[in-house]
Amino acid sequence: MFLKRLDIIGFKSFAERIEVDFVPGVTAVVGPNGSGKSNITDAIRWVLGEQSAKSLRGSKMEDIIFAGSDSRKALNYAEVTLTLDNTNQGLGLDFHEVSVTRRISRSGESEFYINKQHCRLKDIIDLFMDSGLGREAFSIISQGKVEEILNSKAEDRRTIFEEAAGVLKYKNRKKKAEVK
Ligand code: ATP
Ligand code: MG
Repeated sequence: MFLKRLDIIGFKSFAERIEVDFVPGVTAVVGPNGSGKSNITDAIRWVLGEQSAKSLRGSKMEDIIFAGSDSRKALNYAEVTLTLDNTNQGLGLDFHEVSVTRRISRSGESEFYINKQHCRLKDIIDLFMDSGLGREAFSIISQGKVEEILNSKAEDRRTIFEEAAGVLKYKNRKKKAEVK
């Protein structure tokens, strides 16, 4: 499984539609300060289900919509689609390619899609849970996160290993079943 493609429109500094094709292996994104490198990882975290505006470096979710510049009007929505190569069926779905789309409008509406089919945020979170790609997973390690992991309590660190080992999904299901 690998990240194959990212389509972004209206997300943070990306007013124009941008399409990034990735190939297996290492990709480096380079550019001057403020050019939008971190906005790319923010877009990936957002489409994977990030719900905290703060961790996307904003104060409210609307802050991720392109706010306008000297030469361009603000946009009314943001949309990000992430396409994964799933030929090894790492996501448990019977498709060679899986795309996940998230869209938000200024009026506050959110929409989610898996392979262009309308779905809930929960479906996206479930899809990625235990895949090593989830919103809380360590597939994206931000500045400062390394230290946070090293300094975290043993139980919190255990959760990270459980996600990596693929047992977190079952633990969560067990917890839910016990509550009922
Ligand atoms: P650095 O090298 O300093 O880490 P970077 O390449 O990671 O920089 P980003 O943090 O990705 O840069 O991009 C910051 C830019 O994104 C700023 O210029 C900021 O104005 C712009 N930006 C953030 N949110 C929006 C928005 N909603 N609308 C328009 N521009 C935005
Ligand atoms: Mg940055």
